[in-house]
Amino acid sequence: MDCIFCKIANGEIPSKKVYEDDRCLAFYDLNPQAPIHVLFIPKKHLCCVNEITEENAGEVAHIFTVIPKVAKELGLENGYRIINNCGADAGQTVMHLHFHLLGGKTMGEKII
Ligand code: 5GP
Ligand code: ZN
Repeated sequence: MDCIFCKIANGEIPSKKVYEDDRCLAFYDLNPQAPIHVLFIPKKHLCCVNEITEENAGEVAHIFTVIPKVAKELGLENGYRIINNCGADAGQTVMHLHFHLLGGKTMGEKII
């Protein structure tokens, strides 16, 4: 499958990794929108939040146990923002489920 993030997950495309285990990977975004901008992906290909089911939700739950550990390691004690874009209207550009971790500064106005 021609998926950039699957290729990053299997090492075909290099990335600056922050965390990896058998189920997920975290790596720095190529085009950072904050001093710290890390992407979290499941190694299993899911297009987006729309493909989360009872059967695969454990992959997402696992990512959300890893996020606070990585955030702490990156020194984000003052907080951080997690963003997911799902589909065209949200501006999703890579169709492999991912969560943006943004931090390292006081964030601007809230989106919601
Ligand atoms: P989206 O807009 O789909 O929520 O976010 C996709 C993100 O992936 C963007 O922030 C973009 O900068 C990042 N990105 C796209 N291609 C690559 C790549 O090859 N390597 C890395 N590290 N980030 C990428
Ligand atoms: Zn993929």
